[in-house]
Amino acid sequence: MYKTLCITLDLQIIKGMLILQNVLTRKNQYPFLLMSKSPSTKIELCSSCGLCTIQEWPIDESQTSCVFKTGWLGESEKHLFGRERCIHDPIELRFGITTDRFTAQLKNPIPHAQWGGIITRMAIRAFEEQLVEGVISLHRSPDNHFFSIPVFAQNLEQIHATSGNKPVLSPVLQSLQSAYRQNLKKILVIGAACHIHTLRDFQKRFTYLRDMEILTIGIPCVDNVARSKWPWILERMSKSPNTARHMEFMQDFRIHIRHSSGQTEKIPFFSLPEELSNPGIFPPACMSCFDYLNSLADITVGYIGAELLPGKTRQWLLVRTETGKKLLELINQDLDRFPETGNWDCHSFVKNTSKRIIKSMQQQNKQYSSKRKISILTGNILAQLFNIIGPKGIGFAHYSVDFHLIRHYYYVKFRTPDLLHKLVPSHVPIILEEYGLPL
Ligand SMILES: Cc1cc2nc3c(=O)[nH]c(=O)nc-3n(C[C@H](O)[C@H](O)[C@H](O)COP(=O)(O)OP(=O)(O)OC[C@H]3O[C@@H](n4cnc5c(N)ncnc54)[C@H](O)[C@@H]3O)c2cc1C
Ligand code: SF4
Ligand code: SF4
Repeated sequence: MYKTLCITLDLQIIKGMLILQNVLTRKNQYPFLLMSKSPSTKIELCSSCGLCTIQEWPIDESQTSCVFKTGWLGESEKHLFGRERCIHDPIELRFGITTDRFTAQLKNPIPHAQWGGIITRMAIRAFEEQLVEGVISLHRSPDNHFFSIPVFAQNLEQIHATSGNKPVLSPVLQSLQSAYRQNLKKILVIGAACHIHTLRDFQKRFTYLRDMEILTIGIPCVDNVARSKWPWILERMSKSPNTARHMEFMQDFRIHIRHSSGQTEKIPFFSLPEELSNPGIFPPACMSCFDYLNSLADITVGYIGAELLPGKTRQWLLVRTETGKKLLELINQDLDRFPETGNWDCHSFVKNTSKRIIKSMQQQNKQYSSKRKISILTGNILAQLFNIIGPKGIGFAHYSVDFHLIRHYYYVKFRTPDLLHKLVPSHVPIILEEYGLPL
């Protein structure tokens, strides 16, 4: 049974990557923007964060700050917090440095936001209070509800329209160009960990953005996908891909897909076709990602460590810096706050999963079946069972962080071993050792 959980959790959070049109139009100039695989095992890693599309400074300077060149965390964490995460604190080792962590629900959730809308409300309040002159984030593409367009939102309507997930790789940082050209001094950036890492390094390393106060809100992020792969994936998950408007991999071991009719389709992870567990469907950059919980953001807002309660949209907040605290204070009145819940321990679940993860990362030419292995009915029974016996609250977040860092460590080890030392932060081997896994 554990094996089934493991197989299907492998599919957890299959989410959205494409290089936006203006990036694509520059592909001949900047071929590294495309992830290419040469006949050797060398892979060019790029999550299309958007920095390299900016024309205000030399492209090789943007590239120098790329997280796939600098590596995850390490010195960047030390520079931001004055120290790296404590290796003797198992919670900080996974969740990163925080000053406060709790779960919360907006008293008036924002309709059409990804979950409750805490991020959008915070961005609106930061603008209203003139803490920032604009917000760098994403709008929806008019061509596809799940695709993104980078935006520098400079009025309330535009900021409101940034809400909701675009589960594809997105060049958020491209909009820095607009803020820089306007010589603005205070901006908010909402992004995934690769955006925040690259941005922080660039601001520290080069002078262009030094006078700009940049506040950051981070989303947790794993298993993003290429725009070109997204329709193929959605078709394999949903009975009605054309009417799908909202999708999330939830803590109840089901994918929730809301349709234009308002109905929610729930598909147990266990019943997805095997081909969706092929690591090859994810971009190499996302499989080489080691900061699920966005540890360099001023505040991270997700849902993974919160309880999933019927009719509620409870979220999980990790406040990391003084700026994060300031952002939180803006919406304190709007929140119902709750302590974290759940048992921390998930050792046996991870341990039971790890052998299979290593094997699947090793098998690079495996054929994946397009058939469902488990019927929806049986999948739902299993999901129900794991709801009862599986990890919950911070235990689920602990499980999910460990699962992904183990998977990514062996992905890099077996495919690009020369990048292991550069990309992998020092806390990862410590966690692997906890499970007795080989380095
Ligand atoms: C690919 C992906 C995987 C994720 N995985 C997890 C997970 O495993 N666990 C978890 O707790 N949370 C995850 N999230 C974050 C989660 O879905 C919610 O965004 C978060 O809980 C905030 O909810 P909200 O209602 O406050 O967001 P909203 O108020 O709707 O704001 C969301 C913000 O994120 C921005 N955004 C949307 N898509 C992207 C993108 N592709 N890149 C950068 N910014 C984007 C939006 O433009 C908006 O500003 C993931 C998000 C993405 C895009
Ligand atoms: S991830 Fe960003 S900085 Fe790195 S190569 Fe791609 S676009 Fe450039
Ligand atoms: S999984 Fe990592 S590399 Fe990929 S988009 Fe998310 S933060 Fe960036």
